[in-house]
Amino acid sequence: MKAEDILNNLDFDRKHVLHPYTSMIDPLPVFPVKSANGVYIELETGEKLIDGMSSWWAAIHGYNHPVLNNAITNQLNNMSHIMFGGFTHEPAIKLAEKLIEILPNKLTKIFFCDSGSVSVEVAMKMALQYWHSKNKTEKKHFATIRSGYHGDTWNAMSVCDPVTGMHNIFKESLPIQYFISQPKCRFKDDWNPADFKALNDLFEKKHHNIAALILEPIVQGAGGMWFYHPQFLIEARKLCDKYKILLILDEIATGFGRTGKLFACEHANIQPDIMCLGKAITGGYMSFAATACTEHIANTISNGNPGVFMHGPTFMANPLACAVSLASINLLLNSDWKQNIMHIEKNMREWLSPALKIDSVADVRVLGAIGVLEMKNNVDIKKCQKEFVKQGIWVRPFGKLIYIMPPYIITDNELKTLCNVILNVAKNLN
Ligand code: PMP
Repeated sequence: MKAEDILNNLDFDRKHVLHPYTSMIDPLPVFPVKSANGVYIELETGEKLIDGMSSWWAAIHGYNHPVLNNAITNQLNNMSHIMFGGFTHEPAIKLAEKLIEILPNKLTKIFFCDSGSVSVEVAMKMALQYWHSKNKTEKKHFATIRSGYHGDTWNAMSVCDPVTGMHNIFKESLPIQYFISQPKCRFKDDWNPADFKALNDLFEKKHHNIAALILEPIVQGAGGMWFYHPQFLIEARKLCDKYKILLILDEIATGFGRTGKLFACEHANIQPDIMCLGKAITGGYMSFAATACTEHIANTISNGNPGVFMHGPTFMANPLACAVSLASINLLLNSDWKQNIMHIEKNMREWLSPALKIDSVADVRVLGAIGVLEMKNNVDIKKCQKEFVKQGIWVRPFGKLIYIMPPYIITDNELKTLCNVILNVAKNLN
């Protein structure tokens, strides 16, 4: 594209196209992408950037993957979409079969929907309809931990962190939920039972009003990139059983290998009643998600009144999305993904930990294929991102966090460059 056209496009974009979490009149700068292949993102201005973000956890196999391209184009030649009310199709059936095979074994019912946030809405609705069917309509609130993030739609937003989330703007209209402190024990720390006292106290007092506990298992993502102790999940499962509260696990960011297990709940060997999947489910090809639940939840809802689950989006079980998801999951399962993630983890630990010596860095943490630098102060995104691009990497910080979750296909050299550039840039931040 000619330099003049690029400038015109950027000018139009700035005036008319809205981007996430930025001003509508004076937005943060954006970089024009031409294409993306493997681990590399190519800008219209010629730079080739090593991708550190997997497009927000999604593109686990990198971009423009021939196997995924094939799956989606083959499906395109048959049918790109068909309504799911009254119809079914092989891509949805085969994908559901595959998910049931790899998910914790009690999750045998799959609801396909449009995006992560919607899958959280579906999960929350399932929990409420479950209690409605049991004539326990007073169980209408949700419990969660602080620093969580579950999406941008209404009910998902109500269980996001009340400070870093959007509660201060929308609190007059948002449903009221119960928040307890975030577990302080790190993933590999010794377990401190004090960490679940708040949950115990809350359940003891309020269990008759709580439909479900919703958690991001092990890794709290957009709310703070915090990795907590698996024992918290074990205790949470026990307490949910004791107080008859459902457990919803939001595996939208953690699912499909990112933490070193196929699903993060496997670190604690527990099973939820309802699980949300998204992001990497399609290998990052398109917006798509799933909510899985147990047969017990499905039966209880169906034996209640009105006897049907009240949700049905237009693009439910989109065949293109189902086909590419199945191909992506098979690609993952047919690779040595566990070994590969352990290797990325080991390298990131080695190459990011020197950041602890940098004055402006408060903490460094690594789990699976996720690496985080927590700075002492908020990062100037505009300045920082410009510098990253100049030095050939794509990383998008937020708040005090500079974090990476690269595609699993990243080579050692590429990962080393990614980590080195982050350290170089971090040195010049205050
Ligand atoms: N839950 C978690 C844990 C997430 O990380 C996200 C996305 N950042 C969502 C839910 C919402 O997903 P989506 O953006 O696809 O609606």
